Amino acid sequence: MIALVAAQEKVLNAVHQATPRVLPIQEAYGLVLAENIVSREEVPHFANSAVDGFAVRAQDVAHVPATLRVVDEIAAGGIPNVAVGSGETSRIMTGAPMPSGADAVVMVEDSAEGATPNEVVLRASVQMGQAVRPRGDDVHIGDVVFRVGDVLHPAAVGVLASINVSQVSAVPRLRVAVLSTGDELVDDGSPLALGQIRESNRTMLMGLVTQVGCEAVDYGIVRDNEQALEETLRAAASECDAIVTSGGVSMGAYDVVKALLGRIAQMTWMQIAIKPAKPFAFGLLDAPRESAPNRQVPIFGLPGNPVSSLVSFELLARPALRKMMGHSAMHRAQLLAVADTPFLRKTDGKIHFLRVVAKSHEDGRIHVSPVGQQGSHQLAASALANALAILPDGDGVVQGAEVRVVALSDLAQGA
Ligand code: AMP
Ligand code: MG
Repeated sequence: MIALVAAQEKVLNAVHQATPRVLPIQEAYGLVLAENIVSREEVPHFANSAVDGFAVRAQDVAHVPATLRVVDEIAAGGIPNVAVGSGETSRIMTGAPMPSGADAVVMVEDSAEGATPNEVVLRASVQMGQAVRPRGDDVHIGDVVFRVGDVLHPAAVGVLASINVSQVSAVPRLRVAVLSTGDELVDDGSPLALGQIRESNRTMLMGLVTQVGCEAVDYGIVRDNEQALEETLRAAASECDAIVTSGGVSMGAYDVVKALLGRIAQMTWMQIAIKPAKPFAFGLLDAPRESAPNRQVPIFGLPGNPVSSLVSFELLARPALRKMMGHSAMHRAQLLAVADTPFLRKTDGKIHFLRVVAKSHEDGRIHVSPVGQQGSHQLAASALANALAILPDGDGVVQGAEVRVVALSDLAQGA
């Protein structure tokens, strides 16, 4: 058996970041930047009001209540028509340009109607600059707003739009082929004959691939037949950037993925010291293109047991796909949690990954409890988990002890 970290290192060392491409920002969400972004515009572009209220000279409201003459009304998108003089004010809306002469804004909540429609009574004093957003307050011309390696989260693409950057050089979304192998698999809704099972891994893996930010491409079920598998893998390699397969990597007589990759690809077959998901095959398949004669496509050969497939994807395929997508943080964050039940196990030389529900507790810590059935074929129980508890080799942990966990999705606030 090989240690998990050694297996992860082997796989990570064999894959490379994809070549950056210029993309419209609408397609860049979640991608990694391949250039520094320098702003050519100021945000905001002009001094404007942060509130709905009255643009004033601060000195005119030094003593309140103060009655001022309303000389103008400025909406967002509008233009001030007149300057604000001594004893005067302009009604102003959030985001509207500040009129000249005014140096602060009194919120509408601090105003009352005056004796005539042209007058307003202001009841609060303001400092110079109060409730005014100066020009360039958020971004200045020449600011490096994002750098190579930054992830284009939703707010980041929003910023790009705000500074009139409509396309960026980024590591493109990978196209990842997903296929399942097995003579026993059925996915057409027909009644199950003895020995048949409904295919589930492909649907799950396409979801996992999508979660990484890749485009999942469905290559269906391939029977346990080396020739059929070779045809599908070669087609997938020519059309996609990576391939994820399920099944056929164990020691059985029909484990065609392992057999075929050993023959046609540069394969590393591993028995990893983890439970579940011990067998794993990683291959590099030559898929030359005119523009890239040495092109190789990585193949992640995951085990067929559904829970093993899930864990294997998380621990081995996901970090590699993230590296290919340009992320420097390839692994999921680990946190310390409190075991709400004993997590007992036996020494067997492996790290155990237990499927658990992790909740943020009112004591401010994360608490975890197992989802129930932990068999590698029992996907229904695992589907309720939002984290994996990591149990190093040994006897496990007692109730109330700390256990390290990997969060697989958002943690809810629990009881
Ligand atoms: P294998 O890794 O091919 O030896 O398969 C191990 C176990 O996982 C067997 O019980 C298979 O029937 C089951 N299995 C394999 N592929 C899938 C799949 N795509 N969906 C659901 N179960 C599967
Ligand atoms: Mg099989």
